[in-house]
Amino acid sequence: MKKLNAKELERKYLESPNTCPFCGSTDIEADHGEFDHDLGFRNIECNGCNKNWVEEFKMSSVTFNADDMTEEACEQYDPTELHYRDTGGTDGG
Ligand SMILES: [Zn+2]
Repeated sequence: MKKLNAKELERKYLESPNTCPFCGSTDIEADHGEFDHDLGFRNIECNGCNKNWVEEFKMSSVTFNADDMTEEACEQYDPTELHYRDTGGTDGG
């Protein structure tokens, strides 16, 4: 049986994160994960072949509440760099 290298497995898994890269089963379970500042880790276990591995996460974006975007806060940050939720609800009749 051909042995896959780690890079090959990683690429395979990133293309299809719902599928076990070892046996192809979609019966995989994740725990709640642990987060440390901008990094996260999550343990995954495959119920098909009982292998386990760790998913690693890196924060890619942040969303602020529009209500918190006071002028004071905007002076400290370039608003064009920020993605914030526009609550903009309409009060229809
Ligand atoms: Zn598996």
